[in-house]
Amino acid sequence: NKQVQLKNYVDGFPKESDMVVSSDATINLELPKNEPGAILTKNLYLSCDPMMRNRMSKKYEGAYMDSFAPGSPLVGVGVSKIIDSTHPDFKKGDYVTGFTNWEEYSVVRDPQFLTKIHHTDVPLSYYTGILGMAGMTAYVGFYEFCAAKKGEYFFVSAASGAIGHLVGQFAKRAGCYVVGSAGSKEKVDLLKNKFGFDEAFNYKEEENLKATLKRYFPDGIDIYFDNVGGKMLDAVLPNMRLHGRIASCGMISQYNKLDQTDGVYNLQHVIFNRLKILGFTFYDYLHLYPKFYDMIFPLIREGKIEYLEDTAEGIENGPAALVGLFLGKNIGKQVVAVAHD
Ligand code: NDP
Repeated sequence: NKQVQLKNYVDGFPKESDMVVSSDATINLELPKNEPGAILTKNLYLSCDPMMRNRMSKKYEGAYMDSFAPGSPLVGVGVSKIIDSTHPDFKKGDYVTGFTNWEEYSVVRDPQFLTKIHHTDVPLSYYTGILGMAGMTAYVGFYEFCAAKKGEYFFVSAASGAIGHLVGQFAKRAGCYVVGSAGSKEKVDLLKNKFGFDEAFNYKEEENLKATLKRYFPDGIDIYFDNVGGKMLDAVLPNMRLHGRIASCGMISQYNKLDQTDGVYNLQHVIFNRLKILGFTFYDYLHLYPKFYDMIFPLIREGKIEYLEDTAEGIENGPAALVGLFLGKNIGKQVVAVAHD
């Protein structure tokens, strides 16, 4: 049973060598019948998420999830097939999604963090992204907070990533003028030509982000969906319009910092422009899943939303895929396919 384990707590930028792919753990592919309430899963798809990096550090003040333990497998959102069960609510052959160890097979003794997948007419891997955390985060941030109106000016960073490319399409559907930033020409081309953004730019090629944003938004930004924080957030603030909104979703530019060197200096514009900034996490809104599914399933089934996955094949490629998030290697949702069924 191959596992991706954390080797040691990480300081600074994560490396593949901070993890180890071990095949020492043995597993019996049948559950003992005298152990009620357990399930045995074959893990199919694992989600790579930036917040997993936070759990690779020793728990720090303010951290909202426990750290991974060195020598133990990483844990993230996954999709699995049940191959044995002594639990009354789950049966062999069911598919489940939820917190999953980064390993090929798992014995789950208390499956409270797993939910049964009811719709299998879409690719199962979608439950790691558009039908899982990324989709819900995009939905909650956009529909619960942004209050977008037709014709408003909308900007999203890390726009070609899992959340970004969905949020941009939500904003287009709401009638906004949408611009995204991303870290390569290939990503910029996709944003404009596949995901329907009005404009996009490669932030790595821009020397003065404040001036760049002024160029793309001569009349200012109404809504900024922030996935990166840091310098981009600082450049956005003076470009915001009166009564603008900032959905503070993530700050990936800060997660690997040992010291904070690119501070946000322009906060006074929150007052000048009477801005609203909301930091949110999708898991405060889990009750909205049914509403979200009512919206997203028809869009997927009718081909009205583009969804892109970047799939690493094999659990042994998991560490590189996870580290790749911080190098901008992924285009769309980064998934690790452990097995295809
Ligand atoms: P992505 O698929 O967007 O992957 C990360 C991307 O971020 C990379 O591809 C890269 O794209 C960009 N990036 C990496 N390092 C930097 C950097 N130093 N500066 C600027 N951009 C960088 O990930 P997700 O869509 O899953 O997550 C997006 C954000 O949302 C993250 O900040 C994450 O932590 C947050 N999040 C928040 C949740 C919530 O409930 N609030 C839930 C889930 C995620 P590029 O080539 O453009 O640089």
